[in-house]
Amino acid sequence: MSISENIVRVRQAIGAACERAARSEHDVTLMAVSKTQPAAALQEAYAAGIRLFGENKVQEFQQKAPALNMPGARFALIGHLQSNKAAKAAELFHAVDTVDSVKIAERLNTAALALNKTLAILIEVKLSSEESKHGMAPGAVSEILHAAAHLPGLSIRGLMTVPPFFDDPEDARPYFRQLRELRNSLAATHPQMPLPELSMGMSHDFAVAIEEGSTCVRIGTAIFGARDDPAARPA
Ligand SMILES: *Cc1c(COP(=O)(O)O)cnc(C)c1O
Repeated sequence: MSISENIVRVRQAIGAACERAARSEHDVTLMAVSKTQPAAALQEAYAAGIRLFGENKVQEFQQKAPALNMPGARFALIGHLQSNKAAKAAELFHAVDTVDSVKIAERLNTAALALNKTLAILIEVKLSSEESKHGMAPGAVSEILHAAAHLPGLSIRGLMTVPPFFDDPEDARPYFRQLRELRNSLAATHPQMPLPELSMGMSHDFAVAIEEGSTCVRIGTAIFGARDDPAARPA
């Protein structure tokens, strides 16, 4: 299977999930997760219509970016961000989907203002107790929303989560549902901040995530094939 054939199949599966959930396909963005992939693979996905890419390391993307010729493409950081790399991330990416502290948000804000840009961000929420996972506790997310007035360089677009891996994707459903319910309750208490985006769902569980309201599915393996780099596993 080629990358472009894989993208067709993923799009069909997204369409089928949207139909089951009585949602419009236009409300679900397909992000191609291109971590560990060479520039040529991203270029192939771009040729097949992909306009949103997810990378998990600032440095890896910094090395790859000069080789890319993709007008209109957007790049999001979906890996954990350390505060000493926040300025570089704000420069290289259109969006940071893994903001998990007020401190990181403040660093990104300062960098975005210096660059004269508005950086789109998602707040990563940790809904499981796994040691390896990053993200804010659900009860802490409102700290960032309260700080938003002082973060004019950021546009807080919504929430993101990575549930534990389950063999049966149905087992991930309660996590996706919990993220949607958290968003709904935060939006109710912060009416100026509707948090329209819910980034949830990966190659093996995106259909369930769409049924639970995902607006962005992050797909690596199902587009590019298996990665052999264990360090690239989502954390
Ligand atoms: C790697 C990664 C993905 C993609 O995972 P696949 O199972 O290959 O689709 C999605 N989200 C995050 C945060 C990741 O690190």
